[in-house]
Amino acid sequence: MYRHCLQLFCLSGLSSMPVCEVKRRFVLLYGSQKGQAQSIAEGVAEEAGDHGLVAELSCLDNSEKYNLEKETAPVVFIVSTTGDGEPPDNALGFVKRIKRKTLASDHYKHLCYALLALGDTNYANFCNCGKTIEQRLQELGAKQFYPTGYADDGVGLEVVVDPWLDGLWEAIKEALSKMTSDSTGYLNVDAGASPKETADSSPPDIQLNLLSITDCQNCELKTEAKDAEVAHVTLAASLTHSLPPLSELALNVPLLPPPYLDVSLQEAETTEQVSIRENLHEVPISKAVQMTRGDSVKTALLLELDISACPMMTYQPGDSFDVFCSNRATEVEDMLHRLGLYDKRNHMVHICLLKDTKKRGAQVPSYIPQNISLLYLLTWCLEIRSVPKKAFLRALLEHTADGVQRRRLQELCSKQGAADYNLYVRDPSLSVLELLTAFPSCSPPLSILIEHVPKLQPRPYSAASSCRRHPGKLHFVFNLVELPACSVRPVWRRGLCTGGLFDLINPVLVFPGKTESSSKAALPKIHVSWRPSCSFRPPADLSVPFIMVGPGTGVAPFIGFLQQRYGKQEHPEATFGETWLFFGCRHRDRDYLFREELEGFVSSGTLNHLKLCFSRDGHEEDADGATDSVTRCRYVQHNLLCNSQSITDILLKQNGRLYVCGDAKNMAKDVNDALVEMMKTALGRDQLEAMKTLAALREDKRYLQDIWG
Ligand code: FAD
Repeated sequence: MYRHCLQLFCLSGLSSMPVCEVKRRFVLLYGSQKGQAQSIAEGVAEEAGDHGLVAELSCLDNSEKYNLEKETAPVVFIVSTTGDGEPPDNALGFVKRIKRKTLASDHYKHLCYALLALGDTNYANFCNCGKTIEQRLQELGAKQFYPTGYADDGVGLEVVVDPWLDGLWEAIKEALSKMTSDSTGYLNVDAGASPKETADSSPPDIQLNLLSITDCQNCELKTEAKDAEVAHVTLAASLTHSLPPLSELALNVPLLPPPYLDVSLQEAETTEQVSIRENLHEVPISKAVQMTRGDSVKTALLLELDISACPMMTYQPGDSFDVFCSNRATEVEDMLHRLGLYDKRNHMVHICLLKDTKKRGAQVPSYIPQNISLLYLLTWCLEIRSVPKKAFLRALLEHTADGVQRRRLQELCSKQGAADYNLYVRDPSLSVLELLTAFPSCSPPLSILIEHVPKLQPRPYSAASSCRRHPGKLHFVFNLVELPACSVRPVWRRGLCTGGLFDLINPVLVFPGKTESSSKAALPKIHVSWRPSCSFRPPADLSVPFIMVGPGTGVAPFIGFLQQRYGKQEHPEATFGETWLFFGCRHRDRDYLFREELEGFVSSGTLNHLKLCFSRDGHEEDADGATDSVTRCRYVQHNLLCNSQSITDILLKQNGRLYVCGDAKNMAKDVNDALVEMMKTALGRDQLEAMKTLAALREDKRYLQDIWG
């Protein structure tokens, strides 16, 4: 409608009409797994108006909403990376399309783009989705108009995102003005120019690229410390108090995210509750075993699920499962009290869009079912443990009465307060509830919570069994996550899912050295769904040799691999490739998971080489015989280096595979570094060539990771 109005307005040349500012369009595409890239893209779309621009925002999988084949406006991509360097689910189709080999090398010759890639350097394939898109755009002739930003969640996305966004606006304007001078269809109209001049100087078809804007939003809100009611003297900085210089600085605070939800509570007519989604399976836990000794630093637990009543759940080794956990009842109750809504917990929640919202592409969250109670919403739909984002802090400001608390919230979401945000919010994984507790004068409406608190995500776990060995059963292993007490959290707490599972199974837990639980308590049930893996599977060809690297609970999928392979005698005619497993933990006697089973695999010849290391025991030994007296192998990567000849032979000469599973933060990166070293030596080449060889192995699905952090 805006376009239509403008065209009439410009062509009619009515100089008596109010002068309008004309904004120029660009295309803004995001691919987002957990919502970070999406929320950055939405922020860009919101801010565009203040720079005289209009962003046409789409998710990459909404291909009907954009057409890059014909696009002449600048295109901005904001994409994250997930899993083993994979594109987010909603960018998969796009990446597949642009990777088609049939596309000509000038396919995107007309396109100019900028790209912000989000990733985490704790994972080996940092920003891989962004890099893949960029490489392909360039191969297809697209031109970059602004340098690519690679933001690292490992150190804080904002370190790169903020300056990248700062420079983006000028870059888009420059790209647009180049297009104008190239007469590709863009026109810059100063606010003071008369409509007549505008109409006269522009070819008619160009006007379709122009939008008229009458509402001019505020630019960045700058607050002066002296304006805030800061009358507080503090000795030490904390979540709620700052020290100079921050407490005295003028702050750049983000724009207020426009509210978009209208939420009301109505007394329920029935007490009927929505049940958790239909595609989930509710399965009984048939066994729960503590795998580590009581004096182990970490507690690892094995759960056996009885899936015999769910014939649809036929899993393969390498697959994982989503476990659906709820928020803790006590935290939900605290949240209800904190919002002043405890008495309305059984009221039905009605959510619709605010009629006059300024948020572009606003939608009612699809993961919130209709006809649910407030209690259900807070128990099953929102991750109330999530770490509040800066946009959320900004929105909370509007609902905070106390001046000192307002100033501190401003600091925490400001550019100047980035270090404090990391220190007091991000690093200690401060939850929404903990934040609201620390800022008692903040009374947000429920709608703000629903707008800003993300969906409660299920937690994936790798299958630690094979259906072949355990028909009708599924095993998985997990470490009980414990977040220690700290300045922002006086009491330690357990991870949401692992803590919830522990509470469920505690009464029926089988302790080390025991074969069954002393309790006759009924076995609890949990909700799960299947997450098949595309590539993290043992080779179908039994003759292919493979190496497995899985310290701690990372050994889980390999137990499934080996159970599947167990019973060579059933294939007397087959040739079996060699199998290697690199396992590590702290102490042989305390946290060596699946010890008996692994030793059994070695005795039966299912596993040819079991390489062990115990980081706190001070000695190391190979379960396949040899004692390593030369190098002290503390971690799996050291053991890999000790066996580099065999490993590089398997990968480079025998067409073998290497699988890595477990901790993404340190282990997977250290293993990758060790592999680079090994490749350098084996190939006699430099670092770059070694990295390229590993990248080729990845591409070939012969170097595979299933890692989490
Ligand atoms: P949450 O409540 O989600 O808390 C975890 C969060 O706490 C993390 O974000 C972490 O950053 C933070 N945190 C942890 N320690 C601290 C600390 N000291 N201070 C501050 N913050 C901290 N896990 C397994 O154990 N076994 C598996 O087989 C397994 N397989 C997986 C397979 C896949 C494909 C993926 C993606 C993950 C897998 N995981 C596995 C991880 C698992 O899904 C959960 O993330 C993990 O169990 C923690 O869940 P939680 O709800 O208990 O913790």
